[in-house]
Amino acid sequence: MLQVDGLTTHYGRIQAISKVAFRVEEREIVTLIGSNGAGKSTTLMTISGVLKPSGGRIGFRGTALHGMAAHEVARLGVVQVPEGRRIFPRLTVLENLDLGGFVRTAREREATLSRVYGLFPRLAERRNQLGGTLSGGEQQMLAIGRALMAKPILLILDEPSLGLAPKIIEQIFEIIQALNKEGMTILLVEQNATMALEIAHRAYVLETGKIVAQGSARSLSQDPSVRQAYLGL
Ligand code: ATP
Repeated sequence: MLQVDGLTTHYGRIQAISKVAFRVEEREIVTLIGSNGAGKSTTLMTISGVLKPSGGRIGFRGTALHGMAAHEVARLGVVQVPEGRRIFPRLTVLENLDLGGFVRTAREREATLSRVYGLFPRLAERRNQLGGTLSGGEQQMLAIGRALMAKPILLILDEPSLGLAPKIIEQIFEIIQALNKEGMTILLVEQNATMALEIAHRAYVLETGKIVAQGSARSLSQDPSVRQAYLGL
């Protein structure tokens, strides 16, 4: 479904990722793990069209995404939940969700809104509350709900567990798994490698802008160097 080859991205003169290559197949959960500054967010933002690559290719179901604007990428069904949620604090829950659906028709928005409220009853209860007054976990739910409003085929999540309590993290990961079981393909970036490897089918390890290991989530979670560096074992 998604094929990334030789992807290189710079911030000015600084090269953040170099020749990154990986693939995500239909209905898979694929995770990219790596320490702070390894280039995970840069990779995701390049795929979603927020950053322009300086080299390489990104193919999505046969269409070249590199060079496309972020809204064009979203319209094709590649939708990102950004790190730090980035919800609009002065807009209500409903207004935040509506913004996510801007690439869809009004009828599609209505149908998807009921589905999002079904997945996150808390958002339905708080539909008229300002985004900024929600708890961290609720804001993460809102950020995921907003992405779902765009009807993703490939949902990209950047650090969904960041700053959340363990119980909430579990809920968020259960939702990610449920979405995948319904047929959604997922690309997940996580510092919490233990949890990411528990739900992912396959994984790639990024170190200083390069892919240094890859394999099934099970085989990587048994790899001694991955266990030591990323799982704290
Ligand atoms: P984190 O989990 O801390 O976000 P990451 O793996 O997502 O880490 P990136 O944010 O992609 O890493 O950063 C990759 C490299 O690019 C780092 O060396 C970082 O310092 C650098 N970088 C990131 N954003 C910028 C920027 N706006 N300007 C210059 N350099 C940047």
